[in-house]
Amino acid sequence: MTEHEHTKTDGLGDAVPVADPWQARPRNERMAAHKIECNACPVLCQISEGKVGACDRYANQAGVLVRLDPVLLVRRTVEQGQGELVPFVESGVAADGELESADEPIFVTAVGSSTTYPDYKPAPFIVSSLVAGVDMVTVVTEGIFSYCSLKVKIDTDRWLGPEQANVRCKGEVVGHVTTAEYGSQMLSLGGVHHITGGSKKEGRVTVDMMLALGNKQAVDFTIDGGATLRVQAGRAPVVDGVEERRMRVGCGSATVGIFAEQFKGLVDEVVVVDDHITGVLTEHQAGHCLDMRPAGLQVRGRKSTPGRYFQVANPGTGWGGTDISDPLSIVESFDPAVAWPGQRLLMVSTTGEHSAWYLLDEHLVPQPAPMPDEVQQIVDRIGENCEPSLCTVLFVGGAGGSLRAGVTENPVLLTRAIKAALVNVTCGGAPAYVWPGGGITVMVDVMRMPDQSFGTVPTPAIVAPIEFTMKLSDYHALGGHMGYVRPLSQVLATGAWHHDGAPTARRFIAGAPGNPWPLASGPLLG
Ligand code: SF4
Repeated sequence: MTEHEHTKTDGLGDAVPVADPWQARPRNERMAAHKIECNACPVLCQISEGKVGACDRYANQAGVLVRLDPVLLVRRTVEQGQGELVPFVESGVAADGELESADEPIFVTAVGSSTTYPDYKPAPFIVSSLVAGVDMVTVVTEGIFSYCSLKVKIDTDRWLGPEQANVRCKGEVVGHVTTAEYGSQMLSLGGVHHITGGSKKEGRVTVDMMLALGNKQAVDFTIDGGATLRVQAGRAPVVDGVEERRMRVGCGSATVGIFAEQFKGLVDEVVVVDDHITGVLTEHQAGHCLDMRPAGLQVRGRKSTPGRYFQVANPGTGWGGTDISDPLSIVESFDPAVAWPGQRLLMVSTTGEHSAWYLLDEHLVPQPAPMPDEVQQIVDRIGENCEPSLCTVLFVGGAGGSLRAGVTENPVLLTRAIKAALVNVTCGGAPAYVWPGGGITVMVDVMRMPDQSFGTVPTPAIVAPIEFTMKLSDYHALGGHMGYVRPLSQVLATGAWHHDGAPTARRFIAGAPGNPWPLASGPLLG
């Protein structure tokens, strides 16, 4: 076999050598003899022997271009050999002496797999396997994404900054504050306008930030007109240097309603302080239905409906996501015709982290007093009902472009097959949500992906793994590269079909808990 031949199986059986339609061809013909050119991305690094390319992902090892990271394989039931680095060797059997069967529940992820650049090159791994009697195929490649971003959910009520405010990393604008959701603030980070549409520094800082967040590392941000923030997927956010602990149980109105019955008889009035909706129990429908006596307390802000008030204070990092540290500052007055001396008043935040107990004196002025144990227990229960605050990082990437040519000669057929639910799209084995509408825009929770799934190239762009799994017959129908389909046992033994820039080793890992098995998703076998 010549160096530009490879093994063809047509996905169904016999292996025959065929000519390789893709050949590495250096662009610079005057390149020094001790260098080789990497064309796994448009940068086209010329790499000296023993050195790595600009992305640290490829190297010149004794005149051979190799992908440095191992390919990660998920074994459904990992007991032995997990984490071991095993070289791919061209022996026809696995290097560890273990001949894995095609039926063994192993999924080849695209992490470390190499790319399809310059676009028409078939994906480095096109793996056939038999799943529950059905011939399946998984097309495995790393994608180079410049159209990509991170959607970040920060579980906090604290004020992070105004909607649309710039989010900065190392002084560069890398995203913006978007909507507030229930107990969370959303950020949109990265995206093509920051990656390639601004200055060179902005693009570099943006992809470095995305790389770190995607790989589950911590990144510090500042928000124009708002807070400083530390974000790390799966960890609590740190707002202005304070680690957030609790996600609120609900808005102020919801908190009043949830605990209303428990409060009755123990308190005369409860105000749940919230930047969104502050709840006032006796005026609220919950207090009305429980036949609670009106307490005559007026809070500041704009009344929405009975017992529900907007804008009682400015947003901030104090009580309930407001800027207040003294809860009485939102109390406008007590109606002397309704309130009475000795009235018992609880003021509490939506997480129960802040609370205060008052008794009205003879002038109807609230005076701090020790909180009764029974009331303290309800405040504690508000806290108990709060979930831990986390940062959630979702990667969004547009796979509707060139990498489709690595899957099929007629890319639109892949797009249509995905929309017809014939294809299961995963990223590093993690389930990916495919957005409706045109193109293949995928969204995936980085916490469900293997560690170190992401890379960068200096174009600049993000490198992310993507796998397409479908029935072999559907792959044939959509014009797939059938000549490059190889059974799992052969893939495990010999690695990628091409050897220029291919990974040299593989490593078994366990899938993230809760991930569905990528080869057995419902629509595939239905
Ligand atoms: S940046 Fe990396 S992938 Fe791109 S050409 Fe250089 S070594 Fe290859």
